[in-house]
Amino acid sequence: MSASRPPSVDALARSLVSCGLPHALLVEVARESIAAGDWEHAAARAAALAQSLLQPVINASGVLLHTNLGRAPLRPSGNGRPVNLEFDLATGRRGSRQSSVGGLIARLCGAEAAIVVNNNAAAVLLVLASLAEDAEVLVARGESVEIGGGFRVPEVMEQSGARLVDVGTTNRTRADDYRRAITERTALILKVHPSNYRVEGFTEEATVGDLAPLGVPVVSDIGSGLVDATCPWLSAGPPRWLNGEPAARQTLDAGAALVTFSTDKLFGGPQAGVIAGRADLVARCAQHPLMRALRPGALVLSTLQDITLAYLRRDVVEVVPFWAMAAATTEDLERRARALGVGTPVALDALPGAGSLPGITVPSFGVVLDGDHAEALRHHQPPVIARVRDQRTYLDLRTVDPRDDDTVANAVRSLLS
Ligand SMILES: *Cc1c(COP(=O)(O)O)cnc(C)c1O
Repeated sequence: MSASRPPSVDALARSLVSCGLPHALLVEVARESIAAGDWEHAAARAAALAQSLLQPVINASGVLLHTNLGRAPLRPSGNGRPVNLEFDLATGRRGSRQSSVGGLIARLCGAEAAIVVNNNAAAVLLVLASLAEDAEVLVARGESVEIGGGFRVPEVMEQSGARLVDVGTTNRTRADDYRRAITERTALILKVHPSNYRVEGFTEEATVGDLAPLGVPVVSDIGSGLVDATCPWLSAGPPRWLNGEPAARQTLDAGAALVTFSTDKLFGGPQAGVIAGRADLVARCAQHPLMRALRPGALVLSTLQDITLAYLRRDVVEVVPFWAMAAATTEDLERRARALGVGTPVALDALPGAGSLPGITVPSFGVVLDGDHAEALRHHQPPVIARVRDQRTYLDLRTVDPRDDDTVANAVRSLLS
């Protein structure tokens, strides 16, 4: 195309068709390029627009729950038919969108009842608004935390209408500190798992088991949604890197009235939040007017149901991509790294991600390339997300679906050729 005379908008738009964008968007790109006197670069503008759209990527970063990649990966399901979201097939009348999946999650966690909302931040907000509006909630000073993405315990508390009462000190809080803070205005004790940092040294924490006998309902925000600390769905038992991570079943067994957690972290599901525990308290949350604003749709609830059924069948490793990644042995990963036929095989430390398990690494294996190839790999189709350190590019296979190994190898070959 000549640099001096602009092409017609239509001709320019038609020349961009290979990038796959709808014609209306290509017309806009063509118009903008011509207006800016930059029509020679219209193809690059169209490619940049295409790259900004949501699309499947290959996560070779070694971060299992990569928040910027939507945390737990999922396989698409559904076949275009509607689902009986609020339709009772037995009676033909209106049903409840919460009863089916809520009931299954309750059974899974050993709870009397459970409901699902849009995320764990919503779960905590709904619990506080439903059970502690205009009342006091006791929180240990060491647990008055910011989880990331703007989730700060004192601010969520304020939005809910509950009053935060700080208890103990930053590093040490005992059951007696809570006992002395209880008044007739106390509605709840809230425990928040400090998912993304760790206090070490001279520390002391009152456990759910210590607090349950105080006579105030204990709500435990366990965060990551590990269902059961014994991981009965893993034939080899829980991996070492999960040591000490609070789990829903054990926290309820220890006497928590409610637990709240995300379903897109260690649960391995879509973005949602769960409130599980005492039936009377769960019912009050379900009846609060905020519930209407916080409820998930059919897509999320049916995916969550598939995953919950996998836990109940115990075929989690086959069905839930996160647990397939977590359960892979380093021997498997090393074999795959050697079979790639590109780069130099290398032992790596993968990370749990999603701001959970701070300082913990997961033994892994992958390949390393000389030089920084992150950008070129991001431009591959499908994009491959790698990690770069000291002018070397690392591709960690723990977070790559084995069915994508050939694609990763081809992406590396094409950038080296
Ligand atoms: C991750 C996390 C949250 C926020 O959960 P979202 O599902 O991202 O809203 C809240 N509390 C704890 C302890 C967490 O780990």
